[in-house]
Amino acid sequence: MVCVICQRQAMGGITHPVCGTRYSIDGVFPSLVYKGIVKKLVYTFKYPPYLTSLQDTLSELFYEGIIQKEYFYPLTATPSIIIPIPLHVKKFRKRGYNQAQLLAEGISKRFGYPLIDALIRVRETQTQVGLSKELRQKNIKDAFALRSELLDQIANVPQVFLVDDVVTSGSTLREAAKLLKRAGVKKVWGLTLAHGE
Ligand SMILES: [Zn+2]
Repeated sequence: MVCVICQRQAMGGITHPVCGTRYSIDGVFPSLVYKGIVKKLVYTFKYPPYLTSLQDTLSELFYEGIIQKEYFYPLTATPSIIIPIPLHVKKFRKRGYNQAQLLAEGISKRFGYPLIDALIRVRETQTQVGLSKELRQKNIKDAFALRSELLDQIANVPQVFLVDDVVTSGSTLREAAKLLKRAGVKKVWGLTLAHGE
């Protein structure tokens, strides 16, 4: 468990108070480690032959892993919404679905929190795979926007769980969280199926 701002060890994945600013993500909870069978499953889920049928299985694993996190569990008492990390429309069309969206739907059902598709990817970015932490941050900067018609629905929400498939440096989640905090959301946490290396 690391603080996604400084990448150093942090209790339960909570952002260190000294690292955070007003608009920082409050913490990231990866459910599983991205290796072995989990890596194979996530790969199958993301790439051909596009097994969306894995949605239920992976959502179940995701939920079971996350609910056991000591620092996550107390947060479930707060009214919350789930927002998936979006794909750029071009990538979405190519793949036919957004894997983060499918996981968010599964998690949303399990927790009983509404899913609001409030983010859009306004800039096409190159893959974050193989980039250094600095380049990842630069690559993802200003990649997202909030759907203006949904602003009213999210501005007064006490807590948002951003859902993505894999977290590596946390740059993507940080960038998305910044927008939500600026829009007035009090707490923003990242929930991911797996933690990559
Ligand atoms: Zn830190």
